[in-house]
Amino acid sequence: MNHASSKLMVRPGKKVDLARIDPGDTHGMHKQACAEHLAKNIERLSLLQYLLYAEGRRSLLVVLQGIDAGGKDGTIKHVMSGLNPQGVRVTPFKVPEGAEKRHDYLWRVHNAVPEWGQIGIFNRSHYEDVLVVRVHRLVPKEVWSQRYRQINDFEQMLSESGVRIVKFLLYISKEEQAKRFRLRLREKTKNWKFSPADLKEREYWDSYIDAYNDMLRQCSTPHAPWYVIPANHKWFRNLAVSKILVETLQDMKLEYPKPAADLSKIRFE
Ligand code: AMP
Ligand code: MG
Repeated sequence: MNHASSKLMVRPGKKVDLARIDPGDTHGMHKQACAEHLAKNIERLSLLQYLLYAEGRRSLLVVLQGIDAGGKDGTIKHVMSGLNPQGVRVTPFKVPEGAEKRHDYLWRVHNAVPEWGQIGIFNRSHYEDVLVVRVHRLVPKEVWSQRYRQINDFEQMLSESGVRIVKFLLYISKEEQAKRFRLRLREKTKNWKFSPADLKEREYWDSYIDAYNDMLRQCSTPHAPWYVIPANHKWFRNLAVSKILVETLQDMKLEYPKPAADLSKIRFE
């Protein structure tokens, strides 16, 4: 998996063609071996989160994007299950409303950036402003096309300030989406997840792929890399995301802060 996780990263500036990536890929891994690896990664994440909190000087921002039924909610539920709720905050980004509509598009995003010591998870993100907004022409091209640069600048500022950023595109096939929609229709407990609007979005599949390709090419940077996660197989998706999160946190070289006093001299009854 070590080898695999670096292969999933989009090299900065590299042209991306999702058509050449197999959403059913498992990089030679087998489902049987995966549960144990995932459990181990979840345990590691828990320890690293503790260290991040103890250090208290930096934060981790995890961006999740993906088409409807792509597995954003499932990834959060499974991969983040070992985290201490006190140190993690999930922010879902929906159609802007109220004050969000009366500000620039990054306003609500900046407001949700995790404070030092915390892990912030974005369920959708500012990337909607170059995805759904572009696909449905909610603003003119002159406006959305500037946003790639604006987003890179914004993320660079965050990174220079102490926010470590890692971005995942959960990539499923159109057939897999159909399978998941059918399940939502069939299973009573999943009915609530079905939205007729999702079927409408499905008609724009190819436009979304174009928008994803541009987003990946323009916004995978050394300080905020994109990873494309083949996500047809949920077990592989969870394993890959957990592994990359562990590696990212390890790479931060987190350290406990120095004790406030010489602890060896402290005496009390
Ligand atoms: P869900 O994630 O299924 O709860 O759906 C949230 C919906 O909000 C999706 O259809 C997104 O495309 C949409 N959305 C999120 N951000 C924006 C945005 N900035 N502009 C327009 N629609 C958005
Ligand atoms: Mg939805």
